[in-house]
Amino acid sequence: AGMEPAAHVLVFPWPLQGHINCMHHLATALLDAGLHVTFLHTHHNLRRLATKPAPALSQPRLRLLSIPDGLPEDHPRSVAHLNDLMDSMRTTGSAAYRALLLASSSNKDGHPPVTCVIADGVMAFAVDVAEEVGVPAIAFRTASACSFLTYLSVRRLVELGEFPFPSDQPVSGVPGMEGFLRRRDLPRAPRPAGSATDDCGVDPMLLNMGECTVHSGEARALILNTSASMEGPALAQIAPHMRDVFSVGPLHVAAGTGTKSTAPTASLWREDDGCMAWLDGQQDRSVVYVSLGSLTVISEEQLAEFLSGLAATGYAFLWVLRPDMVAGGTTTSLAAVKTLVGEKQARVVHWAPQRDVLRHPAVGCFLTHAGWNSTLEAAYEGVPMVCWTFFGDQLINSRFVDTVWRTGVDIKDVCDKAVVEKAVREAMESAEIRAAAQAMARQLRLDVADGGSSSSEIKRLVAFIRDLL
Ligand code: UDP
Repeated sequence: AGMEPAAHVLVFPWPLQGHINCMHHLATALLDAGLHVTFLHTHHNLRRLATKPAPALSQPRLRLLSIPDGLPEDHPRSVAHLNDLMDSMRTTGSAAYRALLLASSSNKDGHPPVTCVIADGVMAFAVDVAEEVGVPAIAFRTASACSFLTYLSVRRLVELGEFPFPSDQPVSGVPGMEGFLRRRDLPRAPRPAGSATDDCGVDPMLLNMGECTVHSGEARALILNTSASMEGPALAQIAPHMRDVFSVGPLHVAAGTGTKSTAPTASLWREDDGCMAWLDGQQDRSVVYVSLGSLTVISEEQLAEFLSGLAATGYAFLWVLRPDMVAGGTTTSLAAVKTLVGEKQARVVHWAPQRDVLRHPAVGCFLTHAGWNSTLEAAYEGVPMVCWTFFGDQLINSRFVDTVWRTGVDIKDVCDKAVVEKAVREAMESAEIRAAAQAMARQLRLDVADGGSSSSEIKRLVAFIRDLL
């Protein structure tokens, strides 16, 4: 207001669902604080968004823009092709982003000039380009602090020969995690569905993640979607390597006032709400919710093994089966579910309103790939987890769930009916796990409430952004 120059943040997520979601929540928090926000999508995703700008976001201080991601329209953009996306964003995407930033240095359609960029730390170029054209840049990594710290240690892990070999041997190359971290908990590159577990070398993608993690130290600050109560020790190890660190999570609730349980989202799939009425008809804590996130691809054999493990528990389950989730198609898989358990005991949806599902009293545990957004959403609702992991930070998140927070069971990539059955029973029935999950949920509610650590960090971040003017 008045003569004060307005702070205007350009928010630029890595164009995948999990990243868009929490950058979207951060954008909401910045708008709530009175800042102007430009949210930068790719053309492809902006066309695809199933939920158009949510009501809370359709307001004059918000602008949605998009740039090309450089891939042909019919490119799958799936997990097997993430390197293509990485490369084309670094070239075509980067050039368009630079042009857009240069054009945003003047007032445009009622919006003041962009004064700061918050860029996904996975795209190191986004920080460099902004600073080159004179716009200060903050890095945002959408993963856990424990995985960020692990990526920060990649060079050392490679030197020590601890990376990335899956075994039970303890790892010494990540500070503060000696004693419980094993080689099999370190990040791994995505592999084709159902491939052998010991088939992994030092993948260029992992090295690149290590490099861009180190690079975040060059940005004005680092934002992490976590809270000090959950990841204090990892945050303390990260701090000396960054210029400043803001731990503002869990953003899906911190972005609101802490009393608001659902912040608006930007979904690339249409949510099937039909499962909520089905949940209403189930008894409290009697349903296993199964979702492996937006990227995971599994084989028919893996699906069959997990289904029979689940069926053996006798619990009802709600399974999210994305249309592109089973290698080779889903027709036979869907038929398999129905013949195995019938409609009453199992419900299959393409995409669920996940945060509403996790909050529903019928849900007793969450069989998850331990993606960081899913992990935070379950933690906030106090829902015990069974972690079946695939790649990247999921492997370390799941170790923390099992061994540090004790809010669930980590089965890693073991695909075995008996193991699934035992783990699901434990997560559904263990009083200790449920108590730990609920204690964490209570703490997170304090963190995001007024005066709590994460809500104070958001205020500090807003002041930091205004100070860049
Ligand atoms: N999600 C959802 N409906 C589904 C499955 C997932 O809304 O049926 C959301 C989920 O709430 C989370 C995001 O998609 O916010 C997945 O992010 P995560 O980091 O867990 O995993 P990724 O998809 O990045 O592997």
